[in-house]
Amino acid sequence: MHNDSNNSNGNNSHSNGNVNSNGSNSDDNVIVIDRDLCIGAGQCALTAPGVFTQDDDGFSELLPGREDGAGDPMVREAARSCPVGAITVPRSAS
Ligand code: SF4
Repeated sequence: MHNDSNNSNGNNSHSNGNVNSNGSNSDDNVIVIDRDLCIGAGQCALTAPGVFTQDDDGFSELLPGREDGAGDPMVREAARSCPVGAITVPRSAS
């Protein structure tokens, strides 16, 4: 007796692409400008123009959407350059 078993076992496993975007936007991650201290020297806007700007009175402002520094390495430099130390950069910002 001849027993030919022909079992093909097609295992089709699907890969599971799990994309986790982690857009954390807590207030701890934002740059803070103390506008009471700011004297409008403009150093911050000169140093990191992609993050800081000056309002009509010359006081420092954050550009919309750049409150977390947007990964700009000049942000810390801008904070250092502020003559009155009005800029606080969160640890998480670059
Ligand atoms: S460098 Fe400091 S004092 Fe000058 S505009 Fe910026 S925050 Fe104000």
